[in-house]
Parts: sequence; structure tokens; C-alpha cells
Amino acid sequence: MTLTEKILARASGRKSVRAGENIWVSADVLMTHDVCGPGTIGVFKKEFGRNARVWDPKKVVIIPDHYIFSADRRSNRNVDTLREFAQEQGLEYFYDVIDDPTGKWVFDPSKGDVERQYGSKYAGVCHVALPEKGHTRPGEVLFGTDSHTCTAGAFNEFATGIGNTDAGFVLGTGKLLVKVPETIHFKLDGKMQDGVMAKDLILHVIGEIGFDGATYCAMQFDGPGAHEMSIDDRMTVANMAIESGGKNGIFEFDEKTAAYVDERCRRNGTKSEYTPVERDEEEHFLRELVIDLDALEPTVACHPNPAQRKLARELDEIKLDRAYIGSCTGGKTSDFLAFARVIKGNKVAIDTFGVPATPLIVNELKSINWDGASVWDILIEAGVKMTENAGCAACLGGPEDTFGRMNTPLKCISTTNRNFPGRMGHKESQVFLASPMTVAAGAIEGRITDPRRFI
Ligand code: SF4
Repeated sequence: MTLTEKILARASGRKSVRAGENIWVSADVLMTHDVCGPGTIGVFKKEFGRNARVWDPKKVVIIPDHYIFSADRRSNRNVDTLREFAQEQGLEYFYDVIDDPTGKWVFDPSKGDVERQYGSKYAGVCHVALPEKGHTRPGEVLFGTDSHTCTAGAFNEFATGIGNTDAGFVLGTGKLLVKVPETIHFKLDGKMQDGVMAKDLILHVIGEIGFDGATYCAMQFDGPGAHEMSIDDRMTVANMAIESGGKNGIFEFDEKTAAYVDERCRRNGTKSEYTPVERDEEEHFLRELVIDLDALEPTVACHPNPAQRKLARELDEIKLDRAYIGSCTGGKTSDFLAFARVIKGNKVAIDTFGVPATPLIVNELKSINWDGASVWDILIEAGVKMTENAGCAACLGGPEDTFGRMNTPLKCISTTNRNFPGRMGHKESQVFLASPMTVAAGAIEGRITDPRRFI
């Protein structure tokens, strides 16, 4: 069996499963957020009754992160709905925006959108917060009401996005009927050159197979190149499995996985036992590709979808209006450090927005010092508009007052993961997906360019 089949077999109480079979799978964690949470709760109450209890309050994780820092009152209200549900159900893992359990969330635009407006529990973007807070464990099954739930495949778990109806069912039963996906195998050889990042790898892969090339398939990444990659890099790759239509992305377990997971579980007091899955000698793959990491170059996905692959050096003629670094794909500490490495000593030539994925990342960027200045201050000095209000922000557009949102038809280079028309705001705007280094180089030049010139 493949890694995905082994996890699904275990979660369904069977010795083995085959691709194409429909099986009942037990969830280890169900995650939802402010956009889909209220709908999921509505389905749960309608189908299981107004006084129904969730199947296991320790396995439900609620992370408001999407439409948070907006004066839109209906968006604010979504957070209140989550709080009421968490209190009613006694949910321990609700990462509220505010500290007052009797309060209401109201974003105050008069305080500006740069200084933090959240309390001590707020966790930021769910797919980065889940591992940070110790909710991702090897060998487990994670369902989430968000397509980029596949990020957690970096930790050797089966993680996939589901709709509100399915999530309502999981809330009530802890189970879901799942068709076992076929697996596409990506063997990673070699090591990425300086100036080439995990984002370049996944944009290369999506360009190779197409934005529907892995529809309902598991994407298994392994080989020596995968073991060379950091956990953050593996998260970036797994995150974008869905951009090829993948059901999930998955990596092998190794000492890096163990070190990361054990430390986060210990720090947060979450469940620390887990059983990883290892590769079998016999694995059936739908398709196999070998990727030579040494040969990769800075890569860009052009408008209007993530498979429009070009090399950054081929796009010199494309002038940019805006640059954006943030999101679950490209807003981690390591992403900002790579971005800052290119930016340091330069000034940005176009509007450039920086949105860390989580409050912890904000703190790290403020405490890491290079030559006597914090990385945060280095970015501000270069002209980057940095916000402490960690969250999804303009990655998916959001209400009109969202930080970094494109309200006019601009061209933006972005570390985010999706660039279908209108994704970051105006329906005629264009988004070019790239690595943090390539976004930094674009911000300095005001046009798309190869970042290796700057390092
Ligand atoms: S950062 Fe973007 S892709 Fe990630 S969860 Fe938020 S909206 Fe979705």
C-alpha cells in the first residue's frame, strides 16, 4: 500500500484498502474556521438536533483566520458564532480573536490595520496554526473545512479539505465515507540550488501535470530530496497539492518530522502519541515522476491559474503594480527570512504588503536580528507595509477594507497559492504566484525578475 492507503486502512479498522474503495474513516481531528464554521454548525444542529453534542470535544479545533480584520459586521459576527458554539460544546481548542469569553469581536478601523487587534489566544492562519499549536501528528486523519487542509500532509498524515455538510456529519459522528484515492508518486532527487525554493518546486510540479492533473489523487513526495527539505518547505509543497486537484499531499516521516511535532505537542500540551506510516516495498502508483531538484529554477505561475508555469527569467517584460507576501503557503517565518534576504539593503519600487501567517511569526520576525536590526524593521525600512494582524488577509480577497486587497485591476506578484480571476480582490486584477525570493525581487524591480541576481 502507499502511505495514504496505509493511513486510511488503519483509520477504517481494516488490514488493507485499495484505491477506488469506499470506506468509513474515523477522524482524529476536525478543523473549521470563521468562513465555514457557522455553516458547519448549522448543518450539525439541523441534522443532529439543537441539543446535540459533538462526537469528541478534544478532537474539534476551531481557528478563526479568514475575514477577521475587517469592519464588516457580518464577518465579525461569524467569530461570535464560533465562540458561542465552543462554549456550548466545551471545546478546548477554540483560538478566539478576543480574550473575553463574554465579549463580541469588533474590528476597530480607527486603530488602523497595522497594529495588532487580537488577544492572547488568537492563532492566525489555520494551516500554519494547526502544526504550531500541536494538532498535526503523523499517521492521523485530519479533516478540515478548507481546501488547503492538505498542508498537514507534510507531517505524514492524511489531511484533506471537506465541505460544510461532510464536516457537520463528522461533528456528529467522528466518521466520514471516503473513496480511497489513487496515488501519484513524485520522487525528489538532488537538492535545490540557492535562490530556488519549495514554492518553485510545487509550481514546477503543477505546471508539469496541470491544475487538474492530480484530481482526487494522493500526491506522495519522497526520495532523498524530500528528506533534505525542511518542514516548512514540505508544508509549502503539501499545501498546494489541491492546486492540481489533489485529494491530499503526503511526505514520509523522518527525524525532522518527529522533532517538529514532538516539540509543538509538548509546548502546547496536546496529545503527543502517534504512529507514523512507512513505505511498503509494494506500492501501486497511478503515475510516477522523478523531479531533479538541482535543475529547478525560480518559477512563476502566471494569470489565470496555478499551472501557467514560466521561469521568472522569461517574464522580464511583465511590469508589476504590487507585491504581496503572506498566506499559509508563503507567510511562514522561513518565507519572510528568504524574502528579507533579497530585500535587505534595497527599497521596494511598488506597493508591497507583508502579512505573517500567525502571531508567533510576527514575534519571531521582531526578535530575529540581522546586523543590529530586527527582520521586521529591515522590511519596514525597505518600504514593505507590514501588519501585525496575522491572518489570511488579501490571499482570498475578502471584504473591501482587507489589508492588501486589490480593489482595482492591478498586477500583483504574490507568495500565495491560488490565482484564479478575482482571487485577491478585483476580478480584472492579475496574480502571479512565486516564491518569497522572486516576490522580493519583483518588489524591488517593479517587474518580474530572477531573484538570484540579488543573492
Ligand atoms: S491564507 Fe489563503 S489559502 Fe491559506 S487558508 Fe487563508 S485564504 Fe486559504
